[in-house]
Amino acid sequence: MTNTPKDEQSKPAQDRLPASVHEDSCRCRFNPPGTNYYVSTIDGSRYALLAGPFETHVEACGWVDRARDEACRVDPRAWFCAFGTTAMKPEYRKPGILNDRLNVGGGT
Ligand SMILES: [Zn+2]
Repeated sequence: MTNTPKDEQSKPAQDRLPASVHEDSCRCRFNPPGTNYYVSTIDGSRYALLAGPFETHVEACGWVDRARDEACRVDPRAWFCAFGTTAMKPEYRKPGILNDRLNVGGGT
């Protein structure tokens, strides 16, 4: 009985999922309660929070595609930006810059 399978660890190290897909192994579950999540974009050194705050990372991930589409409508150069999600401290609750356009947080 020596033929133990050896390919157990031969999975590709980085099959990266799009930012809009939440990974089961995500470390957000280690974030402190009250952490706020945003859809964010980075353009070189500029950084913007587009949509949020959301109570869960899963929710923020679900808004990435819509926020990116809207950002590209506002500014076509947004195509060249990287979009993702960001965790912010509980005391940071400023609305994302596209919240109104995206109708984040439901009506008034
Ligand atoms: Zn997460």
